[in-house]
Amino acid sequence: MSQPIIYLDNNATTCVAPEVFQAMAPFLQQEYANPSSVYPFAGAPAAALEKARGQVASLLGATPGEIVFTSCGSESDNAALRSAIKTQAGRRNLVTTCVEHPAILNTCRDLAEYAGIHVDYLSVDSHGRLDLDEARALITEETAMVSVMFANNETGNIYPIRELARLAHQRGALFHTDAVQAIGKVPIDLSKELTEVDFLSLSGHKFHAPKGVGVLYRRSFAPFAPYLTGGHQEHMLRAGTENVASIVGLGEAARLAQEHIQEENTRVKALRDRLQEGLLATCPDAMVNGDLEHRLPNTLNICFKYIEGESILLRLWDRARVCASSGSACTTGSLEPSHVLRAMGLDYKALHGTVRLSLSRYTTDQDIDTVLEVMPPIIRNLRDLSPFGREG
Ligand code: PLP
Repeated sequence: MSQPIIYLDNNATTCVAPEVFQAMAPFLQQEYANPSSVYPFAGAPAAALEKARGQVASLLGATPGEIVFTSCGSESDNAALRSAIKTQAGRRNLVTTCVEHPAILNTCRDLAEYAGIHVDYLSVDSHGRLDLDEARALITEETAMVSVMFANNETGNIYPIRELARLAHQRGALFHTDAVQAIGKVPIDLSKELTEVDFLSLSGHKFHAPKGVGVLYRRSFAPFAPYLTGGHQEHMLRAGTENVASIVGLGEAARLAQEHIQEENTRVKALRDRLQEGLLATCPDAMVNGDLEHRLPNTLNICFKYIEGESILLRLWDRARVCASSGSACTTGSLEPSHVLRAMGLDYKALHGTVRLSLSRYTTDQDIDTVLEVMPPIIRNLRDLSPFGREG
């Protein structure tokens, strides 16, 4: 029997939950009608779309009319930013952070280059924390939109979204948050605490729905110009025949996320904490990156000084079929240190030896035991081979 995979890369993507797969299956087979068609055969897909809309709305404390289905988190981020530039006439500034996902950073870059938009980037301290005073100074009457991620994909840091949204509104700017990493891991209630969030992005594949489906939450009456124009789908807010099966899967994943949010913040968090404490106790010169007080319950970003994160990953796979990441999934494959850790000003000896381990509700005690067993000899061995290891 082949050795099972220990999957600790849930911030890169997640497995599709069995319930999600089951819910989707009929819409890939017998219920294939276009939900916009008028005959009764289209009734089931049309009703399924609305059920999924309700499930996502319920998870977020939103109303179904505020949920727009998209193709991914990146599309939702693009839609929010590009819309703000169109609807906030005369305002030529965007404010975001230097630790956003490339879906935001490269869209801002594009808007700067091709639309002449001025972008301000909030900096972070060595723990990856933002400074609200800097935000207060940078958000002005010129700002069309403030976009700050709910939680960081690499460190798991959670940002003060309520305060930032209030600052944006005080200056007449719209507020968007990329909540792709936060969903299902921490509660998000747009009807109570987060009433000043105008737009929010989600992606199905980060919470046990399939890849290639996402959500843009748009608060009722928030000014919006569609990014994808064409047909009348999604109440004219996003053209394109709906990806019914995946949307159904995303709806079911939202229902499951609501059901498991407590477990995420207790059992999963306890596993992450045990992993963190075990590694710090057994591996010298290790350090946790991020804000330990405001962090996703599933994420551990840890650096082992003097060695390469990629070498650690290769050996983790060889020894125990462990999947993890040495930074953002999107930068794996290139040896460029992560922009997030660089923004935090990490020493280069630490920068290169960083590993991100991200858990899910499918992570077991046994998974954590195995990593705690194999990691210390891997680190020792790599340090023995490293010229920096000998120096250190
Ligand atoms: N935003 C964040 C914070 C992410 O982590 C990711 C994916 O890694 C995205 C956006 C992009 O989502 P998608 O892969 O659905 O385009």
